[in-house]
Amino acid sequence: MNRRQWMQTLAAAPLAAQGAPPKPVLDVGIVRLNLRHTWTTTMSSSQYRDTLQVRYTRDGVTGIGEGAPIVRYGEDAESAKRAVLTLRDLVVGADPWQFSKLMAQVFRRLDGQFAAKAAIDIALLDWVGQKLGVPLYRYFGLDRRDAPVTTFSIGIDTPEITREKVREAEPFPVLKIKVGLDTDEATIAAVRSVTAKPLRVDANEGWKDKEEAVRKINWLEKQGVEFIEQPMPAAMLEETRWVHSRVHIPIIADEACLHPADIPKLVGAYDGVNVKLDKCGGILEAWRMIQVARSLGLKTMLGCMISSSVSVTAAAHLSPLVDYADLDGNLLIANDPYSGVQVERGKLILPDRPGLGLKPA
Ligand code: MG
Repeated sequence: MNRRQWMQTLAAAPLAAQGAPPKPVLDVGIVRLNLRHTWTTTMSSSQYRDTLQVRYTRDGVTGIGEGAPIVRYGEDAESAKRAVLTLRDLVVGADPWQFSKLMAQVFRRLDGQFAAKAAIDIALLDWVGQKLGVPLYRYFGLDRRDAPVTTFSIGIDTPEITREKVREAEPFPVLKIKVGLDTDEATIAAVRSVTAKPLRVDANEGWKDKEEAVRKINWLEKQGVEFIEQPMPAAMLEETRWVHSRVHIPIIADEACLHPADIPKLVGAYDGVNVKLDKCGGILEAWRMIQVARSLGLKTMLGCMISSSVSVTAAAHLSPLVDYADLDGNLLIANDPYSGVQVERGKLILPDRPGLGLKPA
């Protein structure tokens, strides 16, 4: 057979004989992330977190996604994994270039399970970015130089360990301090005995009495605190409005603000919203929340759960849009499987590689 005959044979061969493109694959697994320090907030205390990892492979490219199920909303890794499996046929059978249409279908098909939705959304957008050869921040028309400083979070602990954690966080110009138990004054005093840097404080709904909340916030105002996150329970909107009119630093909603539709009613009670991919269900929904909040004159913040560089890097690609970032979940764990967004003197440095821009750690 000469070369010409061989070419003709190839052209005539049925697709299957040449090897049809393999079918798309959606894999899902649970990854146990070990914490560097036992992590305590008003809600729980833990040494590890299980997150959901999704891999979407098509045409030789694999997009990676992650979701951290939030216990407060009845989610856990096992149920999140089952949720992804119920959507497998839908996702594998869809055109990934129609990711917006596909995610709308995912939201219609699945109640709750926002970590599962986020994991699928992130994997799809990572795939799309890689196929286009553009980093996600560029896909969204953003300038990576606008990425903000991230805070580093200090969980609730004894004064001694708090001081040690604050010393370890020396490279970060701004810290986020968790309070909301009956140790608040001692915690802030421990922090202030080691550093004078600006603080942001998160009470995680810890103060149930509006007068107590005002007292604590007025005290924090004198301690160099820039803002207070979720001082009172999410359901206590009117009490928070009462508190808002009596304090002098911004109040940021976290547990009170999960989805775009939650935002309008917060105006007048809160000054800003903390957007998290795991609360709202991914990058597309987070982008929408940021736009809604800004259009209502609210400050915007991107936060995260304890998760690997997959989820934190996904959020970081939107960070040039927001006023504040608290994207340190990957820095709190000891076994990050990937490397993505970096932090230099607190500033988020977005990867310039296509998609999320992840590399194995
Ligand atoms: Mg919070």
